[in-house]
Amino acid sequence: MKLHEYQSKNLYAKYNIPIPRGRIASTPGDARQICEELGGTVVIKSQVLVGGRGKAGGIRLVKSPEEAEEAATQILELQIKGLPVRKVLIDEAISIKKEIYIGITNDRINQKPVIIASGNGGMDIEEVARKSPDKIIKININPLIGLRDYQVRDIALHIDLPRNLWRSLNDIVFSLWKVYVDSDATLVEINPLVITSENKLVALDAKVVLDDNALYRHPDLADLRDLDAEDPSEIAGRKFGVSFIKMNGQIGCMVNGAGLAMATMDVIKHFGAEPANFLDIGGGASSEKVAAALRLIIADENVKAILINVFGGITRCDEVAKGLVAACSEVQPRVPIIVRLVGTNEEEGKRILAGSSLIYVDSLVEGARQAITLIKESA
Ligand code: GDP
Ligand code: MN
Repeated sequence: MKLHEYQSKNLYAKYNIPIPRGRIASTPGDARQICEELGGTVVIKSQVLVGGRGKAGGIRLVKSPEEAEEAATQILELQIKGLPVRKVLIDEAISIKKEIYIGITNDRINQKPVIIASGNGGMDIEEVARKSPDKIIKININPLIGLRDYQVRDIALHIDLPRNLWRSLNDIVFSLWKVYVDSDATLVEINPLVITSENKLVALDAKVVLDDNALYRHPDLADLRDLDAEDPSEIAGRKFGVSFIKMNGQIGCMVNGAGLAMATMDVIKHFGAEPANFLDIGGGASSEKVAAALRLIIADENVKAILINVFGGITRCDEVAKGLVAACSEVQPRVPIIVRLVGTNEEEGKRILAGSSLIYVDSLVEGARQAITLIKESA
């Protein structure tokens, strides 16, 4: 789950990370009033859950309440990477001497958290990472020991930070680490962390991504979820306990297990087609769950065929087959459904499917090929 910038900043502020004064607005009128309160120049920032807002025109520096109202009107009409802007953050403008990148995330290869920093922060950090990786420092944190002072000093040296700001950087990085651990985050980021013209460090932007699987431990953070900013089908998926992520292809997928779901999508792509979604129905899927998943998939008009790939371990193939047949008679899907079903009680499952309109295949490869052929034939 991603937090909005303003939510991330509020979280950082609780840990004493310095952020600009500012408030959130949903109307141009509010934006104007907040600008009046803050006095002077402000930055109007679109709140959408994607990066690169600056480059998309979603961030504007304005000098008066009138301008603030006008800029907010325009930004609130924007769509950034397909997402409508529903709120804007009005922050006091800060004059910037230098932009620093700092972030903490999971390093899966080294199986440890990693802190990433660069003296060339700001909107082009991806470019910096590609073209001059030497300008980026990465330091693993031992989760049992935690962050150490010397690690922050290494960062300060690498980004050439003036000595008088070392203590401040130390406080900020330790706070960021604490946010990361306390909230079970998978990413905490400040880009840019700026040196202001008054020689202070301030977090001008904030990004937090939380681990969905740990959200039950953080009801206060879970409440921050912005349902407006998510795809309705993903919200519905969560309600039925299936992980659903909508994509743009023609082959709907229903799979048990996240890894197998990824492999299924890979195979579809390998044969030149595109998956319409990621869907993990989890273990021991009941017919209600299967029906709910089927409804989610066919609600997408792009879907021209459905590939179901189930490996029966704890999940029993006969149960799934029954669930599928029941779900199909209820939902009446308008596209062909291809099923690969192997593992526990496979034979029984096959028998149940034999009397239905579902197409049974022996292997995943065959399933993907069938789906592609059927789509071509129907086109
Ligand atoms: P992003 O493009 O979505 O990452 O949005 P950011 O919040 O990082 O803002 C993008 C850029 O806008 C920053 O890198 C700054 O250069 C600039 N910016 C943001 N806030 C201010 C501000 O208060 N004053 C000035 N001068 N520039 C700002
Ligand atoms: Mn940024």
